Amino acid sequence: MSLDNTLHPAKSGREELVPSRYAVRIGEIDVLVISDGVLPLPTAMLGHNAKPADRAAWLGDMFLPQDAFDWALNVVVVRSGDQTILIDAGLGLDPDLNLPRAGQLIRRLEAVGIDLGSVTDVVLTHMHMDHVGGLLVDGVKERLRPDLRIHVAAAEVKFWEEPDFSHVSMPPGFPDALRAAAKKFRKEYESHLRLFDDEYKVAPGVVVSRTGGHTPGHSVVRVASGKDRLMFAGDAVFAVGFEHPDWFNGFEHDPEEAARVRVRLLRELAETGELLVATHMPFPSVGHVAVDGDAFRWVPVFWDY
Ligand SMILES: [Zn+2]
Repeated sequence: MSLDNTLHPAKSGREELVPSRYAVRIGEIDVLVISDGVLPLPTAMLGHNAKPADRAAWLGDMFLPQDAFDWALNVVVVRSGDQTILIDAGLGLDPDLNLPRAGQLIRRLEAVGIDLGSVTDVVLTHMHMDHVGGLLVDGVKERLRPDLRIHVAAAEVKFWEEPDFSHVSMPPGFPDALRAAAKKFRKEYESHLRLFDDEYKVAPGVVVSRTGGHTPGHSVVRVASGKDRLMFAGDAVFAVGFEHPDWFNGFEHDPEEAARVRVRLLRELAETGELLVATHMPFPSVGHVAVDGDAFRWVPVFWDY
């Protein structure tokens, strides 16, 4: 788990054949979606309150395998004025997890010329390890600015003091790994934390708002400039959540509230027509939301070159 390996793995000179970054301009603000890689997980986690036959039908309709499939891990970099804001930090490289296709963020930031030392702010949608892990990779903290601000909801930090896992449905080992990552994150970055209650303006046109649900402090980030709007919804929306917004995701600590939050946000997105990006939607996860009967439909953008 050394930074050297993550920074220079492609010394063979072989270019990645699948793109891992996608740029969007929101008025005066630059938004860059970067893939941290993928995370294979059992498909039951898609909707642990759904009938197995219904899950199987959805997977079949999507041409996805029945047992496990790869969740995307999207991270966003926002540049507004003189601030460079990293929204979430990917999974990192914990060797105990044996998830070698994730944890690509640091080297991909470097590949697009974003130096860790140029990041002025980090916004965390929540403190699950697939959102804070990149900050825990050896050597990363030393390369971040000493005055780096990390914005996270106060309710999130409080939740992880005594986290409730009684409503989740995760593979064995995950609760302990999540607890450990959140604890380590807080210990390492306590002095950088800038807590907010419900909403905080991180930069001109960049506002983080607490939604709760997925975790008590789960938050989304809204980017707005001129007529353009984009929402980074973190883990409020998953690929299955358009057709089945009421399916409980295995990582949701309060799944009923998470489903309410999902429906509220999807309605808002369908109404405003703004762009949506979410952590676990297939890369680059840039698209619109439409209403489809009593559910929703995901409409990916046509790539803009
Ligand atoms: Zn996540």
